[in-house]
Amino acid sequence: MKEKVFKYLAKISDDRFYPPNILQKETGEEIVYKGWRKRVAEVLNKDIADNFNLYIHIPYCQTYCRFCRFSIKVTNSKKELGEYLELLKRETKRLSPIFKKIEFKTIYLGGGTPTIFSTRQLGDLFKTLEDNFNVGKTVQRIIEATPLTLSKDKLELLRKYNFDRLTIGIQTVDQKLVKKINRDGQTKKAVEEVVLEARKKGIRSINMDLLGGLPEQTVESFLDSLKFILKLKPEALHIYSYKEEDAIPFCRMGVRVTEKEKNSRKEMFFLADKLIRETGYRSYRNEPYLLSPWAANMQWQAVQAGGSLLGIGAGAESYIPNNFYYENPILKEYSARNNFKRAVAISKEETMANYALNNIRTGVERKRFSKVFRSDFDKIFGKEIAYLKKRGKISDDGEAVKFNAKNNHDFRVYSKIFFSDKNIKKIEEATKKREAISKRKIFNNKLIGSPAES
Ligand code: SF4
Repeated sequence: MKEKVFKYLAKISDDRFYPPNILQKETGEEIVYKGWRKRVAEVLNKDIADNFNLYIHIPYCQTYCRFCRFSIKVTNSKKELGEYLELLKRETKRLSPIFKKIEFKTIYLGGGTPTIFSTRQLGDLFKTLEDNFNVGKTVQRIIEATPLTLSKDKLELLRKYNFDRLTIGIQTVDQKLVKKINRDGQTKKAVEEVVLEARKKGIRSINMDLLGGLPEQTVESFLDSLKFILKLKPEALHIYSYKEEDAIPFCRMGVRVTEKEKNSRKEMFFLADKLIRETGYRSYRNEPYLLSPWAANMQWQAVQAGGSLLGIGAGAESYIPNNFYYENPILKEYSARNNFKRAVAISKEETMANYALNNIRTGVERKRFSKVFRSDFDKIFGKEIAYLKKRGKISDDGEAVKFNAKNNHDFRVYSKIFFSDKNIKKIEEATKKREAISKRKIFNNKLIGSPAES
């Protein structure tokens, strides 16, 4: 019976945090400030092991890639970007007094395309962050970019402000597909030049993303892009599978992958994995292909390890352990309703469950768990561990408990053992409500939200 419930939950929720964000409720800025003040005091007064991480969201792009499922806005207006920059600065300055005594461990600028800002605008943002937060001892600074938004000046600036992990979304270098996905101008030459320049400037780690399974993409085309990327030796590599979702531009345009193309995906990923590993890449924690452990996304690791996440910008997500996590309003509402957030409350028990969910795949270390929570892992999750052990889903060497996932689906089903009965009930109710609204919308023949706000 319980597994039936898990299977149902596996279908509806795949969130970064637990409890899932389907349980979000509106909250005001003062509540958020209070939450942060409480966490900061807790950490400073009780010497609790925590690390604070800073995330800045820039939801703008030069073009809208036709496979993209993110909520972004296309712009090429310096003025519009300048206005958004002022909002980021305003939010930064308002939060700054709370974090006076806190040192941030990582900074991550994500989007969208953060490098869509001009060199001057980026410099202005970096200076504002440095003036308002203690970021002098960060262990990693990450920025996401596209090849066509990176100039020599910008790379120089990134180096000056110690950005040491550059994430470049390439997806493909097949020129026919580049055009089809709406990334005109992204030639092999342009990609190579950016990578060589970034290295010349001393940027330590480059992460590249590729997509497999795009409409009209053949195995040969995919492998050709991969081989080209491997020659550039990025320190980290991510291969994503193209997901057909109704809201993305391709689907709205009526472009669908054929059965033949779908079937060729398995071959693509199998051959890619073989080739990448032969080239010297290894898995480390949750990252599949790294040349070295330090090339990993340390912000995500830090948050998974129980750290706090302060998100600034439209749609940015924040995480306050033992209290709640929340999202800023989306771009349309960000300037007008900067003080409104969507939040999910999290108790200490749920914070621990979130930790278990985020770490059990790579192993929950008992010592680390007790350092973070001052609680015994087996006392808290004894029943859940026994359940998974009985079904052969975990291994336990005494120091750490690790999930033996046969596949993603298996993990998504059985990891739900950490969900509390109370939350399962709430999730069911919220899902039913959402489905009913969705059905009503379809019935009324109304348009259901677009990912692009433009
Ligand atoms: S894939 Fe990246 S660059 Fe393209 S629209 Fe989405 S966020 Fe922007």
